[in-house]
Amino acid sequence: MPLEISAVNSTPLCLEYAHMQYDYKYCPICKNELNTREEGGLERKRCSDRECEFVLWNNPTPVLAAVAHRNDEVVLVQSIGWPAHWFSLITGFMEAGETPEEGIAREVKEEIGLDCKVGELLGVYEFIQMNQIIIAYDVILSEGEIIIDREELVDFKTIRSGELKPWPSGTGQAVKKWLSQRGIENKELEFKKLKKS
Ligand SMILES: [Zn+2]
Repeated sequence: MPLEISAVNSTPLCLEYAHMQYDYKYCPICKNELNTREEGGLERKRCSDRECEFVLWNNPTPVLAAVAHRNDEVVLVQSIGWPAHWFSLITGFMEAGETPEEGIAREVKEEIGLDCKVGELLGVYEFIQMNQIIIAYDVILSEGEIIIDREELVDFKTIRSGELKPWPSGTGQAVKKWLSQRGIENKELEFKKLKKS
């Protein structure tokens, strides 16, 4: 699913997502209404039934991201529904029972059809608007043809590291870190230009 939008070396855009919160009205366990109560300075929704202990914690969801590359070229992908010039990193939700490294290798295989070697952790970045936390890895792609998952993606492109510009949000900061490890300091795309006009 689309998590974040960026464009590289063209007109950059970024979606302004509404605050992504799971907004349950009823308790998923006992079906009673949820009440909002303040606790330790934070408002939380709790089940109105005193016997039930359900609290809606609304913790951020871990999302994995890959600066996926081979032969000095990074692969960026475009999800279904994005404008034609929007591309971002390969990303996906972490699944139960897998390590982050296994998860990102699975996502890379699913999205572009290639095996890969998961390298070092580039960083962990907030994505507050989507209530997500982005865990980004350096990913070295195997040889072979890129075949994108047409149920999720419409297109991909490869960009040489020297031409890849980072962007302000989490995945873009992972790109910036990856570039800096190669001694590349490409100018960051400005956030105001990332907004849809
Ligand atoms: Zn309940």
